[in-house]
Amino acid sequence: MEIRGTGIGQGVAVGPVVRMAEALPEPVDRPSHLDPEHEAERAKASLSVVAAELANRGAKAGGAAKDVLEAQAMMAEDPSLIDEVTKHLATGKTAERAVYEAFATYRDLLAGMGGYMAERATDLDDISQRVIAHLLKLPAPGVPNPGHPFVLVARDLAPADTAMLDLGQVLGLVTVEGGPTSHTAILAREKSIVAVVGAADAASLADGDTVIVDAADDLVIASPTAEQVAEANARIAERAALEAAPVTPGALADGTAVPLLANLGSASGAAEALKLGAEGVGLFRTEFLFLDADTAPSVREQQEHYTRLLTAFAGKKVVARVLDAGADKPLSFLNSAHEENPALGLRGIRALRHSEIILREQLTALAEADAATDAELWVMAPMIATVEETRYFTALAKELGIRVAGVMVETPSAALVADRVLAACDFASIGTNDLTQYTMAADRLLGTVANLQSPWHPAVLRLIADVGAAGAELGKPVGICGEAAADPLLAVVLVGLGATSLSMSPSALADVRASLARYSPDDAKALARAALAAEGAAEAKEAAQAVATEITTARTAAS
Ligand code: PEP
Ligand code: MG
Repeated sequence: MEIRGTGIGQGVAVGPVVRMAEALPEPVDRPSHLDPEHEAERAKASLSVVAAELANRGAKAGGAAKDVLEAQAMMAEDPSLIDEVTKHLATGKTAERAVYEAFATYRDLLAGMGGYMAERATDLDDISQRVIAHLLKLPAPGVPNPGHPFVLVARDLAPADTAMLDLGQVLGLVTVEGGPTSHTAILAREKSIVAVVGAADAASLADGDTVIVDAADDLVIASPTAEQVAEANARIAERAALEAAPVTPGALADGTAVPLLANLGSASGAAEALKLGAEGVGLFRTEFLFLDADTAPSVREQQEHYTRLLTAFAGKKVVARVLDAGADKPLSFLNSAHEENPALGLRGIRALRHSEIILREQLTALAEADAATDAELWVMAPMIATVEETRYFTALAKELGIRVAGVMVETPSAALVADRVLAACDFASIGTNDLTQYTMAADRLLGTVANLQSPWHPAVLRLIADVGAAGAELGKPVGICGEAAADPLLAVVLVGLGATSLSMSPSALADVRASLARYSPDDAKALARAALAAEGAAEAKEAAQAVATEITTARTAAS
């Protein structure tokens, strides 16, 4: 049986299923026999034990997990949450019931906000379960330990669980819920765990069932044939060889350089990115540093962050994006008004222009960090829709000391007038996540329209080809920094369409590097032509795959 979901990365795993324990039952709503003060003490004690445990796990795990778990530890001791618990206790409830109800209120609040915030609702559920388990002296819900390697199947994983997965035991991960931007997906990507998320039918899998987790094909195969298992094992061996291969700069088969860069949200991922062979940073998502801030960060605070990242990439290129606030990443100091369609609202450069002082301060901080370090800093603006916005941004950036200023091409309008946009700036970087969302008119966070969100769609590819052609004509770099660059086959197509560099999650670098090395510039163009000529996304991928197979088969026969 084939179960569809969203694969994270390109890995494959085979093994027996072990299911994650179901959630604790809802605490019974009965009057407490203790007085509210006593219950409040119990609740506060358990909340702080759980907060300390989460912080401790974070410190042990390091990396992005540390930030996620520290944020969870802070949530557990959030004074407004504790006030909410106390409010429920005052009505005579037990501590466990009061914790349950208080967290449920906040969870619903977050879930109702949609996007990035809604995906944090799982984090609150996890804290609530841990606190209730502690109050009831039950074991905390978590990853089972069957004593042999296994494929973990769960409804969804809490960040605390994902962070602590024993990679020697967990061969792969399948979740029934969760999208590509859930914390499970983010951490799985960072830790290179073979994962398929949002696989609704995985709920029917039972302990002991053998499954193949095929992230590259967004698929879980239940009860596979011996042939399918043998093929999966061959792919696992191939990937192990790939990971052990020496890290070299990105290039096509003839040596044409295609720099492979990292997408980063903070300086903390720099060392790992460099280890995996990142030749620089192609997208530094600066807004990730300030998602929890209530007020605009000071120039000094920003300068410190930027300097840390630029120092790690001394001698290399770093493309920083100015704050892309709005839609699924609202910053309270930039996006205050309610909007019906925030993805079409005051986001990216529009929000910054509305609060120009914040943009000025950020550009100043970036220019100061550039002057203080040896990295080559390029700065770009998100959500550019017009040539006029391009002129506005580059003029301001140059005025404030930025040497190389460019724009992200994320809207069809910017792609359609790419020749004029590129004439007004130094470089372009195509954000395929948003470009696909806006071209296909399909919300990138909405599972119900996920079938429309493929960057393989020829409509998206045609726009990318236009930008590539404009870049070649004007001699200006055109990078790709959306998730599309992390797909090894699509990466070749993108180069064939004119991309001059590719930026991605560092865990995807090895696969993309190996894929590029198999094709010449003419091969890449042939793959691109085949994809462009197709009718839809699936057909484009198939057509490119067919040309790729033809090329590699002919080469094997000739050698
Ligand atoms: C994109 O839209 O492709 C992009 C890289 O930006 P983000 O995913 O941060 O919106
Ligand atoms: Mg974007």
